[in-house]
Amino acid sequence: MSEPGSGSESAAQPASARRPRPRDPDCIFCRIVAGELPSDRVHEDDAMIAIRDIAPRSPTHILLVPREHIPSAADLTAADGPLLGALFQTAAMLAAREGIAERGYRVVTNIGQWGGQSVDHLHFHLMGGRAFTWPPG
Ligand code: 5GP
Ligand code: ZN
Repeated sequence: MSEPGSGSESAAQPASARRPRPRDPDCIFCRIVAGELPSDRVHEDDAMIAIRDIAPRSPTHILLVPREHIPSAADLTAADGPLLGALFQTAAMLAAREGIAERGYRVVTNIGQWGGQSVDHLHFHLMGGRAFTWPPG
C-alpha cells in the first residue's frame, strides 16, 4: 500500500501490483507481436519476441520486443526488472547462437526523437558481426 500523497509511481510497487499496459492498435510492433504483420522470428516466449530487423545495420541485427506495449525505456519502472533481466538474458543467448558473443556486440535502445527512436514500442537492438565506433553518431 502506498503512502498518502506518494502518487502512483512508487518504485517500490511490487510487480504483482502493476496492471499490464494496453495494446496500441496502431503500433506496428504490437501488430507483429500479434502475428498480424509478418516478421522473421528468431525467438519467442511469454514475455517477448525477437525478430530480425527489416533494415539491418550490421551482419547480426535483431530486435528484442516485449509483448507488452511499453512506449520506450523511459516508461520502465522497478516492477519491470524481471522483464529487463529476461530481455538481456535472451540477448546474450541469441548473441551466442549468432556466433557474435566472443568478439563482442552491442545492445541499444533509442528513446525519443533525438535518441533516434522511430517505433514507439520498447525494443532493444542486438547488433554484432562488425566493430562499432564510440560514441554512436
Ligand atoms: P528505432 O529507430 O525505434 O530504434 O528502431 C526501430 C527499428 O525497427 C529500425 O531498425 C527499423 O529498421 C526496424 N523496423 C521498422 N519497421 C519494421 C518492421 O516492420 N519489421 C521489422 N522486422 N523491423 C522493422
Ligand atoms: Zn506496441
